[in-house]
Order: sequence, then structure tokens, then C-alpha cells
Amino acid sequence: MTTQTIAFLNDAFLPIEEAHLSPLDRGFTFGDGVYEVIPVYNGRSFCLDAHLDRLNQSLNSIRMQPPYSHEKWTHILDTLVKKNGAGDQWIYVQVTRGIEPKREHQFPTQVIPTIFAVSYPKVYLTKAEQAKGIRVTAVTDIRWKLCHIKTASRLAYVLMNQEAKEAGFDEGIIMNTGYALEGTISNLFIVRHGVIYTPPKSTQLLHGITRDYILGLAEQHKIPYRESKISERDLLKADEMWITASTRPISPVIEFNGHTIGNGKAGPMWDRLWDLYAGQVNNLSMSVSN
Ligand code: PLP
Repeated sequence: MTTQTIAFLNDAFLPIEEAHLSPLDRGFTFGDGVYEVIPVYNGRSFCLDAHLDRLNQSLNSIRMQPPYSHEKWTHILDTLVKKNGAGDQWIYVQVTRGIEPKREHQFPTQVIPTIFAVSYPKVYLTKAEQAKGIRVTAVTDIRWKLCHIKTASRLAYVLMNQEAKEAGFDEGIIMNTGYALEGTISNLFIVRHGVIYTPPKSTQLLHGITRDYILGLAEQHKIPYRESKISERDLLKADEMWITASTRPISPVIEFNGHTIGNGKAGPMWDRLWDLYAGQVNNLSMSVSN
């Protein structure tokens, strides 16, 4: 039985308490880095290649070289998950632009990235638990203009999420000039007359791995969907609303800004997509060979 959380820092596995970083790390002083959150079901990471692709895209966008190949990352993260007792977990990965002796904004001439990963046990919500639904509110977009990058500079998201939580809601839906973009920690979907809608990919939102996975399931099962702008009016008229994220795959929304969505219960399209998603997760879990 594993009791101590093991982390990976700059090529070594060690207890999390012993994983120390310099206060001169640019991740600390500037939030100059990127991250990923990866779900693990029964010891197996889900959609790992897609997460590693996005990690590399984020790194390229901030003009950093990906430090490891997918093969090396896969080996590191599989080892980490095993060291932390396998089962259901979530992995956090962060890569920063390393140490900056004098807090210059300019990139160091020679970048030695800080590479960190840790994984924790996770109790994923059951279908019945998720079906209870969540309540969300609109929050005004206060972010910068490159929201497709999964940057470690998370302050705007923290403030918007806090605003929603303090107002008594489970999540904030980020609104910009009358249109909904995504949640503060999730992507957004609505259903209207049997069609699934989600905002199109742009620099205004994170290109969620779960978002893409769900659209892939819709495509595969010939469920109609469109990537199109979603106005506040569309939100109010929606038959169903969901938010998606790797660690809480598809959460049905039953209330938006005090307005009941559909009949105030998780809808039939959510039910179908949940089963399809859960089916994929179960296939993965059953293919574990240990
Ligand atoms: N949008 C934002 C702002 C997020 O922080 C997240 C997850 O952390 C998502 C969307 C969902 O992304 P994914 O499905 O890749 O977890």
C-alpha cells in the first residue's frame, strides 16, 4: 500500500516533500511555463498522446522546445502512476522556462527547463453522482488573448472561478461580448433540438482533450453536432448544457444564472454521451495487463 506521494522532478523520482524548486524559477516569478492534467483509470492514463501533443503545442506557443519525446514521457508517467499505487488517479505535469538569476523578462540564453510531474489518487464521480447536475453562472472574461495555451499563469481563471464559487455556483461560464467561450476549468456544450453545440476552436478557449473526445464520439455515432458561437440567449434556450474536463468528464448543468436548463435534470443526450464515454474508459481499464 502506497502512503507517500512520489513526484518526478528533473529526471528523478522522489517523495513530493523532497521535490524542491528554486524561488528564481521563472514558473514562480512569471508563471512562465505550461501544464497538463491527465486522467488515469485503473492505472492507465487516458488520451495520453493527445495530452502530450497539446503539451508540445503549448511549449511551442511559448517558444520552448519540448524536453522529452512522447515515448520518454509515457515511460516516466507510467512509472509515476505505478509508484503512486496505480488505480484511479490524475497526473499533473508542468514544464517551466527554468531558473532566471536576475528576474529579467528576456529569455535566458541557455534554457534548462524545470520538468515536474506528480500523480494523486482520484475518486471519479459515478454516473448517478454526476447526474445530480451542477449550477453555473456567467463571469466576465478578464483573460489575455492566447487562451488556447495551457499556460501556468492561471490568475485570471483563479479569480473568475473564485467569483463563481463565492456567488454559490459550481463553475463560471466565461462570457465575452455576449458569447459564451468555456468554463473557468472546463469546456462548454449545449444541446438544442437534438443537436450538440460547442464554441469553435480559437485563441479564446482551451482546446480541451475531453471536448475533442466527445465530438469524436458524436461523429462516430452519427450524433449531429456543430462547432458554433453560443450566445447568452442560446444558453437560456438550451435543452441541455454540459461542461467537460479531464478529471470530471461530462457534468450536466441544471441551472445557469438562476435559470433552469431544460427540465432541471440531466438530459437524454448527456445520458447517451456519458455511456459512450464510460464505455471507452471501461475498455481501457479492462485492457490493463497486470
Ligand atoms: N478549459 C479550461 C479553461 C480548462 O482549465 C480546462 C481543464 O483544465 C478545460 C477547458 C478542459 O480541458 P481538458 O478536457 O483537456 O481537461
